[in-house]
Amino acid sequence: MTHSTLKLNFLGAADTVTGSCCLLKHNSQRILIDCGLFQGPKAMRERNRRTFPTDPSTIDGVILTHAHLDHSGFLPRLVKEGFSGPIYCSKGTFDLVSVLLKDAAHLEEEFARYANETGYSSHKPAIPLFTRHDVDQVTPLLHPLDRHHWTNLSDSLSFRLLRAGHIPGASMVEVALAGEKPRRLVFSGDLGNDRLTTMKEPEPLPDCEVLILESTYGDRLQNRVDPQEELAAVIKDTYKNKGVLVVPAFAVGRSQEMIYLIKLLEDKGMIPSMPVVLDSPMAIEATKTFLAHPEDHSLDQTSSQTPLYPKKFETSITADDSMLHTMGDGPKIVISAAGMLSGGRILHHLKHRLPDETNTVLFTGYQAVGSKGRYLQENASSLGNIRIHGKEVSIEAKIITLDCLSSHQDYQDILEYLGRSAKKPKKIILNHGSEAAQLALAKRIQDAYGIDVSCAINRREYSLF
Ligand SMILES: [Zn+2]
Repeated sequence: MTHSTLKLNFLGAADTVTGSCCLLKHNSQRILIDCGLFQGPKAMRERNRRTFPTDPSTIDGVILTHAHLDHSGFLPRLVKEGFSGPIYCSKGTFDLVSVLLKDAAHLEEEFARYANETGYSSHKPAIPLFTRHDVDQVTPLLHPLDRHHWTNLSDSLSFRLLRAGHIPGASMVEVALAGEKPRRLVFSGDLGNDRLTTMKEPEPLPDCEVLILESTYGDRLQNRVDPQEELAAVIKDTYKNKGVLVVPAFAVGRSQEMIYLIKLLEDKGMIPSMPVVLDSPMAIEATKTFLAHPEDHSLDQTSSQTPLYPKKFETSITADDSMLHTMGDGPKIVISAAGMLSGGRILHHLKHRLPDETNTVLFTGYQAVGSKGRYLQENASSLGNIRIHGKEVSIEAKIITLDCLSSHQDYQDILEYLGRSAKKPKKIILNHGSEAAQLALAKRIQDAYGIDVSCAINRREYSLF
């Protein structure tokens, strides 16, 4: 049996970290690996409104690496524009993706309504990118799969999912092409690192000829200090001052990591017990999903106690509950979204807590250039005020960043990860990173292992084998 060429096109995340989408072509088969939204500055988000580069009705299937919107958020548009095939994903991704898409649709609808009421939009009238109704058309197409289970796409093409350790459900995609010379291609998706307290580490890289590798932190080395000492000091300070520690956190992954770190510190007697409030309906949903997938998390489930929650853990689901926590006295810890202060309940907390010097705001995650979070993080010492919901709010609270938590691999992690595979890939194509991150990582991998590494070029067709 001979096989014809396997071709690959990068339709996103080639020159940037968002919009992950690769088109795999083999004979008449056309498969997308991920179908993500472009996120960040307006010029980048406008890309979501362009005509999709290939007719969605000609695509046979989609395989998702994970539920983050920059990997899944274009699905409602793809379906609306004619795609009707299966969307394969892991069971964890299956549980998370509808929650994330519904939340994104709700925000899109709210923003369009607000823009039309106030005239604040360059689109007239403002139309949401997709709606909750559009998301409802995606859900029936989702096909949850067990990891390691091979699924046939055609007589000669099949794939399976392997744990990527980034968020619950996150998977690498291993594609196998049968023939006289069987070939393997692997998409890393976003890869977790072995410093995450709550997640199992990625599975070993399978033998493959070609690896499509993420490079988000390809030019960075994260701080290797144990976050526990630093976090304990911040929490003890808050307790002593009877203040409130406000933690902006991403709903999926970082919120659970923070809750668990606080529980560990409490168990070890490193901090006094105090109320810990998770104030984000999406983070509460994500936490349930997290606990339901022991194939991804590393918590001890043998004890009768909950393996995740501190002693005085509370959730606030309704807006009224949330307002009570916005106003109530300390000491307490509030974990809320959105993680980069782009909207959501966190802004109400900041509005009330920033003007008081007994309080602290703790950043624990990546703050994109241009985000409100980055602005507050970088300018806290020089700014007297920050504008929230149209009002100037004075900044008296302490602003602290804990920069040793990340759910991605930095360049050292990637070099070590590749180093552990006995048979290295012949070729690596880097995606999901800035140009600087890609170039820096390409050089390090070439220098360390002599592998042929290139940086993905948007819309270029690669003939793989
Ligand atoms: Zn991700």
